Amino acid sequence: MQRRIRIAGIVQGVGFRPYVWHLANALQLAGWVRNDAAGVEVLAQGSSDQLDIFIQRLPREIPPLAQVRELTWVDAPAQASFSTFSIAESGAGDAATMIGHDTAVCPDCLAEMFDPADRRWRYAFINCTHCGPRYTLTRKLPYDRAQTSMARFPLCPDCAREYRDPANRRFHAEPTACPLCGPQLALSDARGNRLDDADPVGASLARLQSGQIVAIKGLGGFHLACDARNADAVQRLRERKTREEKPFAIMAANLVSIADWVEISPAEADLLQTPERPIVLLRKKPSADAMFPGLAPGLAWLGIMLPYTPLHWLLFHAAAGQPAGTTWLQRRQDLLLVMTSANPGGEPLVIDNAEAVERLGDIADALLLHDRDIVVRCDDSVVRVDAQDTPQFIRRARGYTPRAIRLPQCGPSVLALGGYLKNTVCVTRGDEAYLSQHIGGLDNPATCGMLMEVTQHLLDILQVRPTAVAHDLHPDFFSSRHAFELAERWGAPAIGVQHHHAHIAAVAAEHALVGPILGLALDGVGLGSNGAAWGGELLRVDGADCARLGHLSPIALPGGDKAAKEPWRMAAAVLFQIGRGDEIAPRFSRQPVARQLLHLLERGLNCPSTSSLGRWFDAAAGLLGAREVMAYEGQAAMLLEGLAAGQDAVTPMRDGYILTDDGRLDLFPLLARLADEKNAAFGASLFHATLANALADWTERAAHEQGLNRVVFGGGCFLNHILTRDLTRLLNQRGFSVFAARQAPPNDGGLSLGQAWVAIQQISRG
Ligand SMILES: [Zn+2]
Ligand SMILES: [Zn+2]
Repeated sequence: MQRRIRIAGIVQGVGFRPYVWHLANALQLAGWVRNDAAGVEVLAQGSSDQLDIFIQRLPREIPPLAQVRELTWVDAPAQASFSTFSIAESGAGDAATMIGHDTAVCPDCLAEMFDPADRRWRYAFINCTHCGPRYTLTRKLPYDRAQTSMARFPLCPDCAREYRDPANRRFHAEPTACPLCGPQLALSDARGNRLDDADPVGASLARLQSGQIVAIKGLGGFHLACDARNADAVQRLRERKTREEKPFAIMAANLVSIADWVEISPAEADLLQTPERPIVLLRKKPSADAMFPGLAPGLAWLGIMLPYTPLHWLLFHAAAGQPAGTTWLQRRQDLLLVMTSANPGGEPLVIDNAEAVERLGDIADALLLHDRDIVVRCDDSVVRVDAQDTPQFIRRARGYTPRAIRLPQCGPSVLALGGYLKNTVCVTRGDEAYLSQHIGGLDNPATCGMLMEVTQHLLDILQVRPTAVAHDLHPDFFSSRHAFELAERWGAPAIGVQHHHAHIAAVAAEHALVGPILGLALDGVGLGSNGAAWGGELLRVDGADCARLGHLSPIALPGGDKAAKEPWRMAAAVLFQIGRGDEIAPRFSRQPVARQLLHLLERGLNCPSTSSLGRWFDAAAGLLGAREVMAYEGQAAMLLEGLAAGQDAVTPMRDGYILTDDGRLDLFPLLARLADEKNAAFGASLFHATLANALADWTERAAHEQGLNRVVFGGGCFLNHILTRDLTRLLNQRGFSVFAARQAPPNDGGLSLGQAWVAIQQISRG
């Protein structure tokens, strides 16, 4: 009998054909397997029992990077009969598939790399069909070596033999290489002069251990590294990077090496060890701040990641004394490295060697370089496990892009260009949404350039021509302006999507929610459909339609944009609004313009108002004395969470908020109470607890009025672990189904996904 089998999903460039070949041979089947435009096609010949077993086992034992989305088969009348099973030439239209994501070195490659007898012993570019770089070194499809930055390294005879042998675990491993034929490491000084060192890894490690800062070329960009245990080195890195307070992530060899300083749940351990290797935010133990005072000051969380490139491993291996074998991988290692993205000035990551010398020469003491080009900039992903043990993205990039997020239905192909901060773009094809890697804040020309570069790259590899371009309602964002340009060039409509509608739609899309839902959008700021600054909204969202049911009481932004960076101004606005304006000057005596601010508020000059919950967090932080001026976006709210995290549960204030008849939620009574609170940690807990209760009551009332029981959370405030945990619990207790962002970040990093989904629904409606 013969059976024709079709498999769709992530099945190309991941060792799928050799896998099928092995399985078919094990079951003594004949026939062939090949790639084609839709995925993988198999013709299998054998007894009907053997064929049944084959079809059962096929989706179950797939290679680690593969994902089967659909498997269909038909019995074919036996025509020509086969005597063996072979891997056939690709079918027509090979290009319409997808590039895989970058993954960490697999255990088999680690074993080779640490085997002194292996020809790839200590080789920094080892990989195989099941591991290594993909997305970050591929220029375009079809995915083969000629289209990657490995094209300039011709395979030596040994590597070529492995590459051609279906039984070898490097069969068609496009980036495969060895010390004889592949890329090489080199150490240079800060000016780019090559230091002739026989062992660049050992020399780099020695510099790190002596307190120096080394720029290390990675997978999707450079890192700046230093010894995490050396507080002076960390401080020096902060000063040179002018990144005064933003948290730094640590790379550790394994979990036992960090267990003294952070809590690690089983779900967090899994996440740390997945081949995607994100930075995982872990709850600090009390000992963490004493041990690492400069890493994440005042925050409840510490970002940790495990090594993912061979080069990372080699640094730890050198620090362990270059042991043979892999048993040392389980043992506690002393080396802990700060590994922070090399993106000075908030511009995109450095990826090129010459660019590294130019942009990092003033920060790093030396550069650990190599001659394999990074084609696609891709930052480390940042993830946290929530109260339901489910991963939640804070930044989605390396390891996850370019994997698709499945939409509830097929639609026309659209491009969405996102917002302003934490920008990403999204391209859809069929029922798949391709959310780009994190691009960043569009406040500088270089990041705007990266937006164009990433957009073009996604369109190239997906080979689609969008029928519409979605954008934020704010006409001045670079993303919106670029959307207008592209729409005009393609003769396609530009579709504006309100910021918070997009936040809710992003979550609705990934959970396949159709029909009306209640959206709770809690955010920094986004332009509302009435021209005001929104950010604390209750929305009724039904596909392409969105109605504003309620919002937080507006507070003034004294000084406009400055108020979003200086929590003391938000505290002053609240004091003024509750009739305590005379307290502004004495409370904020360190602020030279405190007195003038009162005049601004009294006259309503340069005081636009906002319903943003983010600004209420800032006001609370200002009133509690946690922070007067922020060093980075979101810091006040993160510090407030950090203060509350160390506290036992407190009883929420029953009279801390007012629900008005026109759907407003007013938090002034709570803030008035905080203004008199001397214990900042208690005040932070009281704020979180009361806010969760207030939001639950507010949501419940609107849900009853609307007859809805599905509540969707969207917006950056849902990165606050305490608020999200407590509000979810309260709403669940009251019988509501709650949906939160899982596959994309809840913050503006997920905005383009929501824009795309709203645009598709708008077009489909006609
Ligand atoms: Zn491998
Ligand atoms: Zn070779």
